[in-house]
Amino acid sequence: MVHPPKVSLLYGPTPLHRLDRLSSRLGADIWIKRDDLSGFMLGGNKLRKLEYLMASVLESGADTVVTAGSLQSNFVRQIGAACRVYRLSCAAAVMSLPYDGPAGRPDYSPPDKGGNVFLDEMLGVELHLAPDGTWDELDEARHRLVQVKEQEGRKVFDVPVGGSTWQGVFGFYQAGAELAAQAPDGGFEVVVTPTSSGSTHAGLAQYFLGSATRVVGIACDPEPDLTGHLAGLAAEMAERTGLPRALQAEEIEYHMDWVGAGYNVPSTEGAAASQLLLDTEGIPLDPVYSAKAFAGLIGLIERRAIRGRICFWHTGGMPALFATH
Ligand SMILES: *Cc1c(COP(=O)(O)O)cnc(C)c1O
Repeated sequence: MVHPPKVSLLYGPTPLHRLDRLSSRLGADIWIKRDDLSGFMLGGNKLRKLEYLMASVLESGADTVVTAGSLQSNFVRQIGAACRVYRLSCAAAVMSLPYDGPAGRPDYSPPDKGGNVFLDEMLGVELHLAPDGTWDELDEARHRLVQVKEQEGRKVFDVPVGGSTWQGVFGFYQAGAELAAQAPDGGFEVVVTPTSSGSTHAGLAQYFLGSATRVVGIACDPEPDLTGHLAGLAAEMAERTGLPRALQAEEIEYHMDWVGAGYNVPSTEGAAASQLLLDTEGIPLDPVYSAKAFAGLIGLIERRAIRGRICFWHTGGMPALFATH
């Protein structure tokens, strides 16, 4: 297998520990992988993707990174910080509430101040706010921003939403190996992760493919072709790195039942799940991703759809807790 070039951003391996009080409360064996404590710029899952993405950016000789996301995007904050330390400019096309076309725009206004927006300002990230629209429209806004920057004479490196490229998938393929090395004897029967732009889930599922560990994604936005999207990402990673077998769409396990009213809209079940983890373990979750995924983990235990030793992947997103209107 060919290992792509990498820069070091993670203070890893991130901790893995058992949730004793929660486990006895739920009568289950639940562990947690703490990517919320991954370090650089307040941590989160995106750093694993950025270690490989930034190496490609540096190799390309670009002076400007263009990306996209929601206004309170964790990815924009983390890539903004990585650009800062490598002395590159960073610009992002953002929408307050991007949504999936078929589902339509939920009736909700997300917090537009504080949180990641406050940090982006400190990092000198240029935020280009577009009116709310679909994810496809957000991609179009990103493409237009790339053109504007190129017309200004910049050498641009274009990064899609959430850093979900083959490099991002590779970062999480490596994360799977990190978990396997830390796991107690016998490993995990199930790994539960939030899934949205897809490379976190795709990388982990690719690593555990054909093993005794099931990777279960809890969708945080109601994307209709989630499995096709994930399989496409895994296929490109396998091709670039020479992996013999790529994850197929029908091998991907995910659940849409905990999306709530849509991406970026907090859910009642997510709030209850967050409160339970806080009350038993003193660990906060973010309302957009990890809370919904944790609600999914609890729901799947209650349905007896998952059992044995379970690992919850805490993807971070802590700045969202400080976002305000
Ligand atoms: C981006 C993000 C996710 C989703 O990861 P994807 O790889 O985009 O699916 C989950 N949790 C947090 C906190 C995130 O910022």
